Amino acid sequence: MVAAAASAAAALPRSRDAAASARHHLANMDIRARLKSKSKATSSSARAARAPSLACFAAARRRRAAASDGAGPPAPTGDACTVPARAPTLYQTRPLPSVLVIHTGGTLGMSGDAFHDVEDGALAGAKVFNEGTGGDYAKTLQPGSLLMNLVTAVPELRTFANLEVKVLFNKDSCNVGPREWIGIARELDAQRDRFDAFIVVHGTDTMAYTGTALSLMLAGFRKPIILTGSQLPLAMPRSDARQNLLDAITCATAGFSPPHVQLEEVAVCFGGKLLRANRTRKTSATIYSAFDSPEYPALARLGVGVEWKRDALLQFGNGNGGGSSTTAYTPRMKLETNVIRVPIVPGCDPRKAYGDLYARGVRGIVLEAFGVGNMPGPGKGTHWVSWLRGQHRRGMRLVLTSQCESGDLHPELYATGSSVVEMGVTSGPMMTPECAVVKLMLCLAHPDLPLGQPIAGEL
Ligand code: ASP
Repeated sequence: MVAAAASAAAALPRSRDAAASARHHLANMDIRARLKSKSKATSSSARAARAPSLACFAAARRRRAAASDGAGPPAPTGDACTVPARAPTLYQTRPLPSVLVIHTGGTLGMSGDAFHDVEDGALAGAKVFNEGTGGDYAKTLQPGSLLMNLVTAVPELRTFANLEVKVLFNKDSCNVGPREWIGIARELDAQRDRFDAFIVVHGTDTMAYTGTALSLMLAGFRKPIILTGSQLPLAMPRSDARQNLLDAITCATAGFSPPHVQLEEVAVCFGGKLLRANRTRKTSATIYSAFDSPEYPALARLGVGVEWKRDALLQFGNGNGGGSSTTAYTPRMKLETNVIRVPIVPGCDPRKAYGDLYARGVRGIVLEAFGVGNMPGPGKGTHWVSWLRGQHRRGMRLVLTSQCESGDLHPELYATGSSVVEMGVTSGPMMTPECAVVKLMLCLAHPDLPLGQPIAGEL
């Protein structure tokens, strides 16, 4: 009984798979061409002359039926009324795109064991985290089993693409940083010619940093690289993982079926939105729509249909569209990791709070000022300008951003802002703090790359 139930359960996704696969196959079937010889012989008289009579077809059908049930004599090879050989119709089936899914960890791949069912009280029936298990990942997660889990749990994935899954590592994204970004970037670089598109499964906590890093390190990659993850594990009821994976693969393969939208950039697909990775921020710890790009429109919104904002997509070649672009693929695999974010807090004295950061090895500061780039002036008990000047003289690279999520930077409007710009603090179009950090890391490691040069639609 148990075995029968198990085998029925196992058969279900397989047969759903097959049906879905067949549907996709049909949808993709393109009647491209008939033989040229046929199209030449299209005059009605020529067709009439070659058209066999209905009686001939009927006779041929009777002979075939008799031959196949073994009752009749073998069909004669010659015939008084010959059915002419028809030019075969050629069908060309568009091959499915190939997609590499790179798993790096995060909630999506966590095992269901990290949760337990609540039996009593207000939460009765709910599944809640076992305390202290956040960040525990299934020890058994292997490439094979992950692929099986993905395809079994979300069989429709296979109707979009031929999938290959690679578990690069399996970490809580709090533990993902420059070393891992370089690892993922190297993997993507090595696989660039083998696949049409890439999906990176990643924890949500630092997804914006990793997405930004990939976009800048692999500027000009020109194939879809889509990061996704989930707020609840795939193994859980009500998980958002399934929808996020399907949305991600929909966007990754959008160039291969109507309306043919070719994404050529790194994006985050989450909670029904496709966002440019280097403009993205995690804005909610709990709701499914956890990401936003406050300073840039969503590249697509996914609901019943997919609404693409084509003019926001990164364009190559003509410099039009959503952000400037380099045409040549320029992988940059080095990062100076000693970069920090320094938010200005009212009343805080940076000499006490931070001291000589340069002496401690810090090489870059993303300064998060107020509003358009304002900060406390001298004589107010705080000494931001003189502290910054000291650090700058030591060799520190300084980038100005704002604590506001959107708007423009205009530090020159205030005396303090003007002085820091004059001393050489880089200001410019507003970047997210995540993007400012990663861009600074990249520019410090590649001194030929100016901070103000846009390379992946980040400015
Ligand atoms: N702690 C997890 C991570 O970022 C959270 C998540 O994936 O949603 O890896």
